Amino acid sequence: MTAQHQGGCQCGAVRFSAAGDPKFISNCHCLSCRKATGAAYSTWVGFKKQNTQWTRGTPAFFASSAEVARGYCRDCGTPLTFASEQWAGELHFLVGAFDHPEAFAPRTEAFIEDALSWAPRLQKDKT
Ligand SMILES: [Zn+2]
Ligand SMILES: [Zn+2]
Repeated sequence: MTAQHQGGCQCGAVRFSAAGDPKFISNCHCLSCRKATGAAYSTWVGFKKQNTQWTRGTPAFFASSAEVARGYCRDCGTPLTFASEQWAGELHFLVGAFDHPEAFAPRTEAFIEDALSWAPRLQKDKT
């Protein structure tokens, strides 16, 4: 049976589901994610877009750069998703938006060159 992952924003106006195993789980240290989330770095869980759906409401979108759409709840402001032409056909969710994020331990890191000096790093010997 295909795993179903549910999640949503803080106020509950926007809910989503994602099916199957993530394509990737990655900590992103880039400046754009830092500004979008207000966090030192963010953990993203990538799914095929066709395996995802909005089950309640829909997010608003902000174009943090050309061809990028960052989804967030227009009511409570929770950042939720990232989509880009660069990864067409994928939808990336912030790990904290899931109801059960415990299972989504990050495996890789992106934009490590932009990481804050005090940000924790994944151990390289664990892959
Ligand atoms: Zn909300
Ligand atoms: Zn990023």
